[in-house]
Amino acid sequence: MYTIKFICEVLTIKPKKSNDLTSKISELVYDSRKVNNPDESLFFALKATRDGHDFIIDAYEKGIRSFVVSKSVPFLESINDVNIIEVEDVLQFLQSLVTYHRSQFEYPVIGITGSNGKSIVKAWLFQLLIPEKKVYQSPKSYNSQLGVALSLWNLGPQYDFALIEAGISKPGEMEKLERMIQPNIGVFTNIGLAHAQNFSSKQEKLIEKLKLFSHSDVIIGGSDYLPYDQFNGQKKIVTWGKSDQDQIQLLTEETHIDHSKLKIRIGEVICICQVPFTDRASIENIMSCVSVMYFLGYEVETIVERIQGLKPLEMRLQLKKGINQCSIIDDSYSNDLASLKISLEFLNQQNQHPKKTLILSEMEGLDESEKLQHKFIDLLNSSGLDRFIWVGQDYTWLKEIRNVSKISFESTEALLAKFSDIKFDNESILIKGARKFHFEKIVQKLALRSHGTVLEINLNAISNNLMIYRSLIPKDVKVMAMVKAFSYGSGSFEVANLLQFSKVDYLTVAFADEGVELRVAGIGLPIMVLSPDRETFQSLIDYNLEPEVYSMSFLNEFIDFLQLHQIKDYKIHLKLDTGMHRLGFFPSEIDSVIDRLRNQDQVRVVSFFTHLVASGDVNQDGFTKEKIESYLKSADKLEIGLGYKFIRHVANTSAIVRWPSAHFDMVRLGIGLYGVDMDKNLPNLEQVSCLKTTVTQIKELSKGETVGYDRKGILNRDSKIATVKIGYADGYSRRFGNGVGKMLINGSMVPTVGNICMDMCMLDVTDLDIRVADEVIVFPSITQSAMDIGTIPYELLVNISSRVKRVYYFE
Ligand SMILES: *Cc1c(COP(=O)(O)O)cnc(C)c1O
Repeated sequence: MYTIKFICEVLTIKPKKSNDLTSKISELVYDSRKVNNPDESLFFALKATRDGHDFIIDAYEKGIRSFVVSKSVPFLESINDVNIIEVEDVLQFLQSLVTYHRSQFEYPVIGITGSNGKSIVKAWLFQLLIPEKKVYQSPKSYNSQLGVALSLWNLGPQYDFALIEAGISKPGEMEKLERMIQPNIGVFTNIGLAHAQNFSSKQEKLIEKLKLFSHSDVIIGGSDYLPYDQFNGQKKIVTWGKSDQDQIQLLTEETHIDHSKLKIRIGEVICICQVPFTDRASIENIMSCVSVMYFLGYEVETIVERIQGLKPLEMRLQLKKGINQCSIIDDSYSNDLASLKISLEFLNQQNQHPKKTLILSEMEGLDESEKLQHKFIDLLNSSGLDRFIWVGQDYTWLKEIRNVSKISFESTEALLAKFSDIKFDNESILIKGARKFHFEKIVQKLALRSHGTVLEINLNAISNNLMIYRSLIPKDVKVMAMVKAFSYGSGSFEVANLLQFSKVDYLTVAFADEGVELRVAGIGLPIMVLSPDRETFQSLIDYNLEPEVYSMSFLNEFIDFLQLHQIKDYKIHLKLDTGMHRLGFFPSEIDSVIDRLRNQDQVRVVSFFTHLVASGDVNQDGFTKEKIESYLKSADKLEIGLGYKFIRHVANTSAIVRWPSAHFDMVRLGIGLYGVDMDKNLPNLEQVSCLKTTVTQIKELSKGETVGYDRKGILNRDSKIATVKIGYADGYSRRFGNGVGKMLINGSMVPTVGNICMDMCMLDVTDLDIRVADEVIVFPSITQSAMDIGTIPYELLVNISSRVKRVYYFE
């Protein structure tokens, strides 16, 4: 283990302040919310969207005493018990440290890059190699400048191989990754359109990506992506493809309903491989894996046997509803320390239940390495878990996990046999196991089924989008996140937990009962209620919810109510009507509001706000400008009248982008958080929700027949019609009927036929190779689908009915 002194020596830097240079460092921390072994942590004040220097006090309070900074931090200067390393560029320093660490190991590092499939190829190679090798793989999709550094930090002497994924989004990044990873073997999965916006051409992107392999001994990839002449014979390359120039040649491909038979020539030997995949992407990933095994010298028989055992992998962790009011976090496909840490962090963000349980399988390499055991025990002891169910050998060193009650089973079967004796009730349960333990059997018992139509919600996309909007506003401007209407259709506590963890400043709901639901689920952030009514005054107070106050009569009634209950200084938010003419005081009423507020001490104005009616519309910019000015006048008047300051806020999503002059003290972020780019200039915004269904039946029908109610779907040709399980009761509007709506199946856009039914509708899939159970994306582009029926994305999102199961993904 390195000490601070040693780190400074190898990186030739003198610490700015030293208290205890013999402190050992095993953890690199960049997020003060994620600290689990402060005594052995080194904090890096990175400058990302948020400046890490702002979180140094928090990290100190959690016990960290060693810091890498890029500027003078008065707090650190004022105390003595810290080590400070001051550098020009903190990320670069972190990367140099990791580069040094990586160079301590001689075993081969396999670097994996490409546009798609990196994580799958990595996870598959892991499975393919572990029967006889000790393999390290980078966790989840940790492939960025920071992710790669954190991944490499976990390298240790106990491995035979390391699999490291590398991803870039702009030119110049790969050289830095190459320096850190120093891959001996390069795997190039493919090149596609992802992140193309920062590159001038596909060629430029290819050249950039191949920089990862500039010092590798070999590059492995498809010859479609790696033209033979690319390296002029200067590099050893192993290619797969359709040509006999390829070392691995895909001769034929026979596709069945749920599997494919591949005839492959591996070197000189021809073999048949049956795999449970039919899609092109999976077949490509399989070819990459075959090529790596071939290069590593595996026998063809072994390659075929192991490839046939590959299963579809879910790379992301899923949050779903479980039995007995439990939340299930399903991460049952892989198990290693680094990814356990990420999953436990996610478990810790869950506030909706009073208890937390971890069901965990034995982990590759854990029993052999005392260093890993030590980390594992620390992680569990600081995890905040209530219960820990272990599947595997009951090692004596497990006794050192003292803070959590433990139940142990020798196998998954043993656990399942005793299942009914274990009580699961109102708790969050993380299920994490290595592939061979088949924890999907446990998930099946605990999770409620979500067949047919589901709304998948990508929680990472919400964080990403929040960061993007945060980067558009000054650092000291607060963020209020709109979670009204079930977070625009995407969830209640599931989304609120994430927002609370991401430290937004406020949440906003439409009605008091939405706020109550969040409080019951353990959300502690301040919550504003947009349309409170008299009947819910008591709930507001019981659950500490802050009402919007929009009229004199409401104000009077609320004050009376508070007086009756002898409550003082209750927080309220005053709303100004600047043209919506919905709720709110007119500017002309501000004087009387001041009068009323001066003569009482029941309420206190924490914020004063207005909602712009057309912040996204260029044609209304004159109007909008006038309204912002009018708001400002009223705000100044109110501040003088009240004699104290309050939070000023005006901007919704569009105004965050288009009206920097209206950022004031806080912004109210709505639709943008959920990935809809109303202003079409934030290409990095990520889609958050994806509504998916499946094909239930397929019919061949003749020209002239009709489809659906009232014979509205008239067939003008012999047609193939697919019935899918989504109808207007799920939120798929009848207006999408008769060809107006288009869905995506296997990469093709297909129109609806006939009227939309209550629970189903029909699609024209003539000429396409579509099968029962194929997946269907209902809104390929939410913006386009909304436009098709003359509405806005907001309406489509909030109309997805509650009977559609929500599944949350996180990685
Ligand atoms: C819904 C709402 C917002 C958010 O609007 P977006 O356009 O979704 O960002 C902001 N303020 C108020 C008062 C709202 O009702």
